[in-house]
Amino acid sequence: MSIDGTYDQENIFAKILRAEMPCVKVYEDANTLAFMDVFPQSRGHMLVIHKHEQARNLLDVSVDGLGQIMASVQKLTRAANQALSPDGIIVTQFNGAPAGQTVYHVHVHIIPKYEGDLKLHASGGMADMDALNTLADLIKAAL
Ligand code: 5GP
Repeated sequence: MSIDGTYDQENIFAKILRAEMPCVKVYEDANTLAFMDVFPQSRGHMLVIHKHEQARNLLDVSVDGLGQIMASVQKLTRAANQALSPDGIIVTQFNGAPAGQTVYHVHVHIIPKYEGDLKLHASGGMADMDALNTLADLIKAAL
């Protein structure tokens, strides 16, 4: 998939927003939704998306929408830090397949990192749902 293109209503995050697919929700406000990544790169890997913007990536999201996403990203990064005490936290975002993007609804990754844990992007298996729910509850309690 190219860095440019039209928004596909059938992408997996659009389905999550329409409640056609489940997600382990961590946080929601009027404009954004945060949920656990189901193929986590680390313990506590979350994704933050906009609920109303039909944007594929950073290039086509509005400045206001991006600001709303990043405000939630900061809130959740702080909560993850408090709840999980990682050694570091990656906040990242990919644009176009060659850059690593696989889902074409703009999103930001929050990836807590722990010393010695070297997992790369898109390298993890599917998470255990009970474990994801436990992590989501820990982070929610720190919000
Ligand atoms: P990208 O590679 O586009 O930057 O990130 C997409 C992310 O979405 C990946 O980290 C991938 O693990 C995650 N992902 C893919 N499908 C699903 C899904 O059905 N549910 C959730 N929660 N995450 C997903």
